[in-house]
Amino acid sequence: MTGNELDYIRLAHHNLRLAGDGEFTKKSQEMIASSLSAKGSAFLTHSCTAALEIAAIATNIKPGDEIIMPSFTFVSTANAFVLRGGIPIFVDIRPDTQNINEDLIENAISKKTRAIVPVHYAGVSCEMDKIKKIAKDNDLFLIEDAAQGYLSKYKNNYLGTIGDYGALSFHETKNIISGEGGSILVNHPSNLKKIEVIREKGTNRSGFFRGEVAKYTWKNIGSSFLPSEITAAFLCAQIEKGLEITKNRENTWRQYHQQLESLEESGLLKRPVIPKECLSNSHIYYVVLDNKIDRERTLEAMNNKGVNAVSHYVPLHSSPAGKKFGKFSGSMNITNRQANSLIRLPLWVGMSNNEINHVVRVLKNSIKI
Ligand SMILES: *Cc1c(COP(=O)(O)O)cnc(C)c1O
Repeated sequence: MTGNELDYIRLAHHNLRLAGDGEFTKKSQEMIASSLSAKGSAFLTHSCTAALEIAAIATNIKPGDEIIMPSFTFVSTANAFVLRGGIPIFVDIRPDTQNINEDLIENAISKKTRAIVPVHYAGVSCEMDKIKKIAKDNDLFLIEDAAQGYLSKYKNNYLGTIGDYGALSFHETKNIISGEGGSILVNHPSNLKKIEVIREKGTNRSGFFRGEVAKYTWKNIGSSFLPSEITAAFLCAQIEKGLEITKNRENTWRQYHQQLESLEESGLLKRPVIPKECLSNSHIYYVVLDNKIDRERTLEAMNNKGVNAVSHYVPLHSSPAGKKFGKFSGSMNITNRQANSLIRLPLWVGMSNNEINHVVRVLKNSIKI
């Protein structure tokens, strides 16, 4: 918490305006767009999942359409498109960033491909110049799953503002939070009206509130994707402290990185790589253990000493729903390997030096062959 959350919620209560698209929603949207130097607009949603679902409707995904994405991601990346009848085509990841391997994307393209969905893992950008060019050359939509990437950059651009659409998450596990929450970044102004309708249950209610039409009516398919003003009020307080939150996390990230250099040199693990084009928001600090190390036993030993180190995704191509609804292109060797050897270390705002040192010490003492 940053301190102002309850005051803003009290104000929302005082305003007697609790449904979506009130003062705090507008303020949050403006702050998100300006903090990302966005050329388009940001709309608040109740989750990043909702933002991805809006993008899937807006890009008119139809049954049988193929959408290229990594398998090493959260279920919503795929589920949003499967809900429209789309088929996720999973592509292997890079071993350095755990992001989709841009060199394998072209091989996965078929006549049915409609979109590429890069996921910026841990807040570190995918190779966007190359991915953007592939999307352009093949006339595909580019939808960034920037759930973890708020305030991260690729070259001069913030994540979420590079593709046609970007999806952000403010879930309480992310850097900037509102419990549940998200935003869709609409990067072409010509798409704004379409998104407004999809987000407001398929109606032109937003235009009605601006006085553009006398009555609002059903215009397209859509759903209820807005958060309430209470959620937006909480989020406002968080966004105002976005840079401080990020800086604090970055400090912890760097300390982990320095202290774990010797373990990397001794070949026991690999530390995360941030390519020089990328500025990271330090969302996650993870390590990838060497093949000879037993990840489950190592995690268990850490957990037994009170350190909440955890693994990450079960790759979607190997999940029951992923097998049913998706396909994979090429081999999933790197995805399988990384998913079985990655450990995320505790990272929160206000973590003390003692706590950081303790986690490193426990990791060093817990590594089991
Ligand atoms: C957290 C996350 C989501 C889902 O975000 P919600 O706001 O919880 O819907 C989607 N994709 C990725 C990569 C995530 O990390």
